Amino acid sequence: MLNIVLFGPPGAGKGTQSAKLIEKYHLVHLSTGDIFRANIKSATELGVLAKSYIDKGQLVPDEVTIGMLAGEVNKNPDAKGFIFDGFPRTQAQAKALDELLASKGTSITMMLALEVEEEELRKRLLLRGKDSGRADDQDPAVIQKRIDVYNGETMPVKEFYQLQNKYKGIDGIGEIEAIFNALCAEIDK
Ligand code: AMP
Repeated sequence: MLNIVLFGPPGAGKGTQSAKLIEKYHLVHLSTGDIFRANIKSATELGVLAKSYIDKGQLVPDEVTIGMLAGEVNKNPDAKGFIFDGFPRTQAQAKALDELLASKGTSITMMLALEVEEEELRKRLLLRGKDSGRADDQDPAVIQKRIDVYNGETMPVKEFYQLQNKYKGIDGIGEIEAIFNALCAEIDK
């Protein structure tokens, strides 16, 4: 299986690149943010809970997120592989993902990390907020909180994969197509 963690701060381009990667490599795309937003839209219990964190720019608790992600992986027993987009965001999530995949006789192939500096992220998120309708992209304080949470809680996940020699950093600034080609070059190596 080809199992990719697409990593990077909010606004790095993970959603855009995931869409292109699943088409080329026929992978199942699991975006925890998208799944939470779908649950918010249909007002499920999970959605109501997730919204209370998302609106503040905080992470949804690990037990909830890990349980949901495991359910989604289990729903796709015939997948050729997965792109994990926006997951794992904590070391506990990374460990849980390793264990889940190991129980299925597979593992993470690599972490592809889109590297974009903070100033550019703030600009991109505010711009996205204008058309996406995402409340968390429209409030500069919530955007800053998400960047801070990324730096504090999510950055250690990079180290987790570096220790396994699976971390690949990619410059996330430039044309979408050029970044996509750089990602494919790492996958095809
Ligand atoms: P995203 O669409 O990836 O930017 O995620 C939007 C929001 O959903 C985040 O700011 C978090 O509040 C929540 N979220 C998404 N993925 C996770 C995760 N792996 N762990 C905890 N919270 C998450």
